[in-house]
Amino acid sequence: MPPISSPTAERYDFIVIGGGSGGMGASRRAASYGKKVAVIEASGKLGGTCVNVGCVPKKVMWHAADVAEKIRASEAYGFPGQPEPKFDWSSFKPRRDAYIKRLNGIYDRNLEKDGVEYHDGWARFKSADTLEVTRKDGSKYEMSSDNICIAVGGRPSVPSPNEIPGADLGINSDGFFDLTEQPKRVAVVGAGYIAVELAGIFHTLGTETHLLIRNENVLRTFDPVIQESLTNWMAHTGVNIHKKTHVKKVEGQKGGPLTVHLTDGSTLEVDTLLWAIGRQAETDDIGIENVGVKLDKKGDVIVDEYQNTNIKGITAIGDVQGKALLTPVAIAAGRRLSNRLFGPAQFRNDKLDYTNIPTVVFSHPTIGTVGLTEPEARAKYGDSAVKVYKSSFRALYFSMIPEDHKEPSVYKLIVVGEEEKVVGVHIFGLGSDEVMQGFGVAVKMGATKKDLDDTVAIHPTSSEELVTLR
Ligand code: FAD
Ligand code: NDP
Repeated sequence: MPPISSPTAERYDFIVIGGGSGGMGASRRAASYGKKVAVIEASGKLGGTCVNVGCVPKKVMWHAADVAEKIRASEAYGFPGQPEPKFDWSSFKPRRDAYIKRLNGIYDRNLEKDGVEYHDGWARFKSADTLEVTRKDGSKYEMSSDNICIAVGGRPSVPSPNEIPGADLGINSDGFFDLTEQPKRVAVVGAGYIAVELAGIFHTLGTETHLLIRNENVLRTFDPVIQESLTNWMAHTGVNIHKKTHVKKVEGQKGGPLTVHLTDGSTLEVDTLLWAIGRQAETDDIGIENVGVKLDKKGDVIVDEYQNTNIKGITAIGDVQGKALLTPVAIAAGRRLSNRLFGPAQFRNDKLDYTNIPTVVFSHPTIGTVGLTEPEARAKYGDSAVKVYKSSFRALYFSMIPEDHKEPSVYKLIVVGEEEKVVGVHIFGLGSDEVMQGFGVAVKMGATKKDLDDTVAIHPTSSEELVTLR
């Protein structure tokens, strides 16, 4: 369905700015209660970051890298004579893009099916209940509602060329998905989710990969065992990790080759430099000053536990509120918000509980985590209350693989008190992405170590380690 080009109502029950994960979740749920709902989306495609330049195309690329790993392992599994896999990036990209386009179509149809109006334009607040929509052709119109939800997400942060001369010669995660050819040499700056995931994809697909981190380890907010395991394994497999360093200057031309000058005095010659140093909420041009919605120092919208901003009738969900920047969080917060605003009486207090959110990093191997890290648990409960169970092992899959390529697995359980309540699960190793969800349920339900021990193991799997820890 083509987007609507003018409002069809004087007032809407609900207007959502942004047709990403949060906006889709909130608007469709509100419409399911028979409300008159509109979504305003500026990019010309629905689905937001996750569908277009995030989770989905990233996971497709992760699968491509995973296939390369399987091909490399095939000889050890009785398929002799396989050549080193050669990934054809240029022919794969259009096929990946076509899949994303299909998803955009499905999102269009979902809105249509649910009766949500899709408006194509950039939204700015004129007042607390009125938005101005600017379409690509420059035309403008206004839309009003007593309930407006800010779900505008964010964009990659990049240093300015004033801070780091030549910084604009680099790309960011959005640019990763625009690459039409596989770079032969790449430098990735950052140590968070995006940096390790994209560096892992490049490296596994055969690009010479440099990872520039400003501390000792990657994933600094994760449990120390995860930080160390991934940093060490990436280095072992040949990712060039440059620790305690940063970019001082970049020379060359857009599209490469580039000379990257580092603060340790060394230089790198690469084809692509990719900044993965965090994300910035998209709040600088939505007319926030016209209504006085409070932002924090980073530019994230400040909300209470019900997603309310300081202005009555204006709510915010998803990445723009700066907590747990994950697609299922944005969707869940959006749906619960609409339950609370428009649903039946039993939902009048509905809200998302932001504790114990399970999350996965699609590194090589993958990581899963839920709850507190060991330092967080010790700070919260005191050393004497905290007990740690840990297992380091090799997944059975690696039994047939040569020693040097056997990926490690490390599983760690953090429990507190006499009842040994599980407050943290941190897993690293083959299949962690799929193992994690079920243990996320267990922690959410308040599982104790005994509950895990009372569960009969599934054999032979990696996940059985978590119910047999001693
Ligand atoms: P978005 O999805 O960003 O949607 C916001 C929408 O608002 C956009 O479509 C934008 O065009 C629109 N918009 C902005 N301003 C305006 C305006 N003024 N008017 C109209 N429209 C506007 N999360 C996971 O859970 N798992 C993953 O594996 C994962 N991988 C990721 C990989 C990458 C490379 C990145 C960048 C992110 C990843 N994420 C992942 C995070 C996930 O994509 C986000 O948490 C999620 O998309 C946030 O949803 P949102 O609705 O808050 O914002
Ligand atoms: P993160 O917040 O995860 O990490 C940002 C990284 O950038 C940190 O490692 C930080 O280093 C580093 N950094 C920050 N500023 C600088 C600087 N000036 N110079 C050098 N390094 C710097 O952000 P990402 O951009 O990786 O991802 C954004 C969010 O998107 C994630 O937090 C996550 O919520 C979501 N996401 C989720 C995924 C998933 O679910 N699998 C995948 C991808 C993204 P330091 O550690 O030293 O502070």
